[in-house]
Amino acid sequence: MSIAILGAGLAGLSCARALAERGIAVRLFDKGRGVGGRLATRRLEAAGRTIAIDHGAQYLEPRDPAFAGLLAGLPCASWPEAGQLIPLPTISALPRALAAGLDCRNGVTITALARAPGGWMLADAAGERYGPFRAVVLTAPAPQSAALLAPIAPDLAEQLGGVVYAPCWSWLAAFAEPLPLPDLLRGRGPIAWAARNSAKPGRDAAEAWVVQADAEWSRRHLDEPAEQVAAQLSALLPAPPPLAQTAHRWRYALVERPLGRDFLWDARRGIGLAGDFCPGGGAEAAFLSGRALAQAIAG
Ligand SMILES: Cc1cc2nc3c(=O)[nH]c(=O)nc-3n(C[C@H](O)[C@H](O)[C@H](O)COP(=O)(O)OP(=O)(O)OC[C@H]3O[C@@H](n4cnc5c(N)ncnc54)[C@H](O)[C@@H]3O)c2cc1C
Repeated sequence: MSIAILGAGLAGLSCARALAERGIAVRLFDKGRGVGGRLATRRLEAAGRTIAIDHGAQYLEPRDPAFAGLLAGLPCASWPEAGQLIPLPTISALPRALAAGLDCRNGVTITALARAPGGWMLADAAGERYGPFRAVVLTAPAPQSAALLAPIAPDLAEQLGGVVYAPCWSWLAAFAEPLPLPDLLRGRGPIAWAARNSAKPGRDAAEAWVVQADAEWSRRHLDEPAEQVAAQLSALLPAPPPLAQTAHRWRYALVERPLGRDFLWDARRGIGLAGDFCPGGGAEAAFLSGRALAQAIAG
């Protein structure tokens, strides 16, 4: 019987890969159209070209040898301005490489978990049922995992209650002419991060920007319509009307207060939890959390 993994972000994918490498069958479910979660790339159509822009995580900081080894096996470039590594051609190349050969169902939003005599059963938003599975691993952000756990393991759901995330509004825009700005701005007023896409190694040469608001600004504007947020962020830069633009709200962007554990594994009930929210940190933390959970499951 296989193991169900909810979420094909870095935590879910690293857990799935490590289990699969030990000969344990896994099936991933993700509500997104592709894999990667917050390692995400969007495409803008402008002036007859398609410009791919990373709009979640911007760069990777490998410190752990396992994460560094993974990146060493992929096309990556160092980005001197940020002083870090970026996968080529986009950041999504990393989750796509991890997902290769795995059984991953995308576009499936899991809405309920139930313990049946034969194992765990999952239900999705369209009324489909999946299972039985011998264990279930949840890697969605803590509040979303807690909502799924509340009816079946309220004690675990409660443990997740203390996790806090900073939100982030992210604005992508393409322009006809280069903006009169340095390639990278950090911590400028409410702008936590603004980068010229074409200045990153291996990216499209068209003039396009990703602008990410800081946590305080994003919290204050959290429930405003995306168009209104885009207009306010664009006014912070010397920017003419863009050729194309889109704004995305990351409600759970960066972990401010983590669970303080590398992962959770309840072997008796067959429930595991992994993600950046467990140890706290970014992409590397998510990867290591999923991997450590897989080691615990495999024994
Ligand atoms: C704007 C922004 C900037 C960032 N910058 C950096 C950076 O520069 N460097 C860095 O290292 N980190 C950065 N991070 C953080 C980094 O992206 C995350 O730490 C990491 O990607 C988290 O991975 P994860 O697998 O734990 O969670 P996620 O990537 O969030 O994966 C969880 C997955 O669960 C899926 N899911 C949720 N609910 C369900 C459901 N009910 N059914 C099915 N699937 C579901 C989601 O679709 C998602 O794919 C940034 C994040 C954001 C948003």
